[in-house]
Amino acid sequence: SIVVTGATGALGRLVVDALLAEVPAGEVVAVVRDKEKAAALAARGVELRIADYDRPESLAGAFRSGDRVLLISGSEVGRRVAQHTAVIDAAKAAGVARLAYTGILGGPDADFTLADEHRATERLILDSGLPYTFLRNGWYTENYTANLAPVLEHRAVLANAGEGRIASASRADYAAAAVAVLTGDGHLNTAYELSGDTAWSLAEYAALLSELTGEEIAYRNVPAAAHQEALVGAGVPEGFAAILVDVDEAIGRGRLAGTSGDLARLIGRPTTPLAETVRAALA
Ligand code: NDP
Repeated sequence: SIVVTGATGALGRLVVDALLAEVPAGEVVAVVRDKEKAAALAARGVELRIADYDRPESLAGAFRSGDRVLLISGSEVGRRVAQHTAVIDAAKAAGVARLAYTGILGGPDADFTLADEHRATERLILDSGLPYTFLRNGWYTENYTANLAPVLEHRAVLANAGEGRIASASRADYAAAAVAVLTGDGHLNTAYELSGDTAWSLAEYAALLSELTGEEIAYRNVPAAAHQEALVGAGVPEGFAAILVDVDEAIGRGRLAGTSGDLARLIGRPTTPLAETVRAALA
């Protein structure tokens, strides 16, 4: 079977959707922690296996010998190394055929806090000896478009990323890449640097928003401390705000700007342009 963890998340749903367009539902398994949340998947004929990354014993039945597994990285920053360890151990014990993992662009070279757990997870997978594929995902365009309300309200894109460029792609693009790897031959013991075809700056993003809305929307590049304060003021928990500010500094250093072309090659088409995702979000 092809097994997808995190299948009820935003990326996981798109992966399962795209998988169901390629293979019979009977070959697809969703590993989820909340059965109710996965009811729509079950209704489409996808087998559910209930497991929680935090409870290693619950993962014992999640995988079978020969499965092709996609481990979608967890969302609870700070807990993910232990969580991913439990998943990798269970996959190894079951004797899965392959393990694909959604990491971060740059892999071992990604030098920002958010990348630490991805780096550690890749190391654990290498040490497991399982055949692997690293899907090193760059930024989702939706990280920006899901956050348009305050930008439109204040007519400002606030960040501390300087003139750094971001080679983002849509979640659906990254999902399609995962499906290409899971359903295709090859890709074993390979790392893909997945990102959008075009890297854009936040000044260009603000200009695009101005053009599409008819409002004057500015890029306000501020010092890290000021951005941190603004995020906390807007209700972002302090620890997560610090992570976002640290990511912006990494963007300023060009860490999310890489355009290797791996994503377009894997999905066999250009990645979704920034303007297309922004237009859809504004509509
Ligand atoms: P989501 O938060 O929508 O999905 C995370 C998934 O992980 C959910 O299905 C969630 O389950 C599952 N999960 C979290 N904790 C556990 C647990 N303890 N046990 C079992 N399942 C768990 O994120 P996305 O789908 O948007 O992104 C996928 C991953 O990519 C994120 O988790 C994060 O690691 C990373 N990411 C990447 C970004 C990028 O720009 N490249 C941006 C943001 C995140 P449930 O549905 O039950 O909540």
